[in-house]
Amino acid sequence: MHPSLAETKQAVFWVDQLDTRTKEPVSLIGSGEADLVIIGGGFTGLWTALLASEANPGRKIFILESETVGYGASSRNGGFCDASITHGIENGMSHWPEEMPTLLRLGRENLNGIAETIRRHNIGCDVEATGEMAVAVEQWQVDQLLESANLARSLGESVEFLDSHAVKEQVHSPTYLAGLWNRDSTLMLDPGKLVKGLQDAVTSLGVTIFENSPVADLEKSGNKILVSTKSGKVSADRVVVATNAFNPVLRKMRRYVIPVYDHVLVSEPLSGSQLESLNWLNRQGVGDSGNQFHYYRLTKENRILWGGYDAHYHFGSRMGPEVESNDQTCGMLAEHFFETFPQLEGLSFTHKWSGPIGTTTRFSCSWGSSHNGQVSWAVGYTGLGVGASRFGAQVALDLVDGIDTERTELEMVRKTPFPFPPEPFRWLGVQITSSMMKRSDRNEGRRGLWLKLLDRFGIGFDS
Ligand SMILES: Cc1cc2nc3c(=O)[nH]c(=O)nc-3n(C[C@H](O)[C@H](O)[C@H](O)COP(=O)(O)OP(=O)(O)OC[C@H]3O[C@@H](n4cnc5c(N)ncnc54)[C@H](O)[C@@H]3O)c2cc1C
Repeated sequence: MHPSLAETKQAVFWVDQLDTRTKEPVSLIGSGEADLVIIGGGFTGLWTALLASEANPGRKIFILESETVGYGASSRNGGFCDASITHGIENGMSHWPEEMPTLLRLGRENLNGIAETIRRHNIGCDVEATGEMAVAVEQWQVDQLLESANLARSLGESVEFLDSHAVKEQVHSPTYLAGLWNRDSTLMLDPGKLVKGLQDAVTSLGVTIFENSPVADLEKSGNKILVSTKSGKVSADRVVVATNAFNPVLRKMRRYVIPVYDHVLVSEPLSGSQLESLNWLNRQGVGDSGNQFHYYRLTKENRILWGGYDAHYHFGSRMGPEVESNDQTCGMLAEHFFETFPQLEGLSFTHKWSGPIGTTTRFSCSWGSSHNGQVSWAVGYTGLGVGASRFGAQVALDLVDGIDTERTELEMVRKTPFPFPPEPFRWLGVQITSSMMKRSDRNEGRRGLWLKLLDRFGIGFDS
């Protein structure tokens, strides 16, 4: 085991540091009625509840959550709240080139909406408007960053390309060869506190949250939808499914989203001299640029969160605590950390965890409807859903309320992603694609035949 991991506990830092809850969770028992039932209490579910109740304060809204609010990816992520609703500009351009100017504008409006809501509801989630800096750690990635800079500028984005000297001025790492900093695309925040703040906000607006209430079934009953858990039933006019990577209650959704586990470490707080050795004065979120990439950031109390690189899919879309700890991946993450910041040798990690990323073959949200349009869903943001989940929620509401908007006209919304094949081809396809991505990283980013073939069909595997 890497020495920095000797005392590390398996726990989500963001949840561990929250004040312990004062109220016992309430489960759904017996029968009830609601105008809108939301299945899943992560960011998508919470934003759906907030947007729906702010637009229509009289609406009776229930959230049914199988564990506790924020149990899924929403409390376990890196806290990069990005304006992109397309998992980055390149990915957006590869799928919806004509729509990209609109998607970029909608993404900005969405990020502004998040910031405005945080202010209006007084949600203390340690927002820092630092932007995000992509760094190149191999020569081929420098060329890639230059291309990204040109593409972003051609779409009106303001980005700064930093050469080797300038990027090292921003953050001291001997591994950096170049950087691309978008100062206003990303808010860095504490996702655990954002979950808690949104939960409080929706509760204050009259939304009822039932926890420990996994939904087992949805069925049409007259002109209503009957939503069933083990111990209760709700008769609802409308239902939004916001279950992301988890086994969806609707069979129809299962082909489009798979769970991929991503691992994260958080260090002890840095001392004054350790912090000085980094010169990370602008505190921007950082991500390196390979197919397998790390993302990292400072927390409010100057710990470093360090995650990514190795994402795991388990046969049969298996999920749960038994697949959540992985010493080998954590050891590798720790090694990479000290290669990036050798000056921090001796630092320890206090927390490690993993979480399920709901990924689609197009790496961004997928929507759909069923039950004559009375049920809609929004799932599959891949690794960029902290910000995009509000947009996903808004579209799911438009769909379930039958309202035509600029959003519902988008090809991104109307077109479903290329489906994943059934097992065992699903698992095999993911394994082959992952190993080809590793090979591409070793071969200066050259994409072999397999990846080129997937590119041609606009599909792939990412975290
Ligand atoms: C390790 C990690 C790092 C990440 N880092 C970032 C990042 O820095 N920036 C970024 O933008 N994105 C990041 N993401 C992705 C981001 O966290 C997600 O896209 C986002 O949180 C998705 O929110 P959600 O509400 O759709 O899903 P979730 O938060 O997963 O919520 C789904 C909820 O549905 C519940 N549920 C499931 N089935 C049922 C059922 N049958 N009945 C009732 N409830 C059910 C689950 O318990 C869960 O609480 C990361 C994800 C992970 C795992």
